[in-house]
Amino acid sequence: MSSLMVLATLDALRQQVKAWKQQSLKIGFVPTMGYLHDGHLSLIHLALEHSDRVIVSVYVNPTQFGPNEDLAQYPRDLEGDQAKIEQAGAHALFYPDDAIMYPDNAQTFVNVKNLSRPLCGEDRPVHFEGVATVVTKLFNAVRPDVAVFGKKDYQQLQIIRQMTQDLLFGIEIVGGAIVRESDGLAMSSRNAYLNPEQRQAAACLSRALRTVRQAFSSGTHSADELLQAAKYVIAEESLAQPQYIELRNSTTLETITEEAQASDRMFLAVRVGSTRLIDNAPLAGPCELD
Ligand code: AMP
Repeated sequence: MSSLMVLATLDALRQQVKAWKQQSLKIGFVPTMGYLHDGHLSLIHLALEHSDRVIVSVYVNPTQFGPNEDLAQYPRDLEGDQAKIEQAGAHALFYPDDAIMYPDNAQTFVNVKNLSRPLCGEDRPVHFEGVATVVTKLFNAVRPDVAVFGKKDYQQLQIIRQMTQDLLFGIEIVGGAIVRESDGLAMSSRNAYLNPEQRQAAACLSRALRTVRQAFSSGTHSADELLQAAKYVIAEESLAQPQYIELRNSTTLETITEEAQASDRMFLAVRVGSTRLIDNAPLAGPCELD
């Protein structure tokens, strides 16, 4: 018998959460868009370390996709996801539909102003408003004590931290390490779009990050030189078209222009064919790339 609760309505979700809270159980929450891989599952494991009951949501949020983006093709596999979520040890799956998440005449959107502007915000102007809005709705529906997000989407993680503080959610936000394939490629549901040649080319992102970390540890601390090192590795890969290659403060996301610090992060967005891939890493310190 399945031990995973599958909840498709707000009433069912709220009843379950209420029952757990009456037993003083701590609720952990992992929001996802499904088509789960080991990166998502690592967040479930992390949530289990921080709470007594873990709820995973699977919802492909239309408002975070731009008009020419991949909403219609975004990969979906609810049955497979359900099996993986159960196997990972989560307690409930919440999979709302659009009518629940965006009732008719929905007019309220959440905008985390400054952190949403740079990096992915430049190429994807509506993206982070969609993310902040859907996470707000999910936080209000689930009312978790702790929520876990991956550092793979580092800008998103910082936006959620800021929003949680600004809107007094009182939820602990935990960031999970980036889970990678054996050649270093950060796992992503969008990797499914890559053909074999593109899949090989996609390793240039993690290669660039490794090169930059090595350069920093050998004493290259000039922002310009570190950026050049990353740009060189991406330029060597003919199938890769960089969208941005930037060095930024890990908390404020402000650009680093002169001397970089160990905690500063390199951020990459690179198109391989029509697939847009992102990755990031700190210049020094513990990292899955080592
Ligand atoms: P998504 O389904 O792409 O919206 O991602 C759901 C959550 O999984 C987000 O918090 C992502 O940052 C996280 N995530 C996606 N890929 C990875 C990965 N390779 N390692 C760790 N977390 C990830």
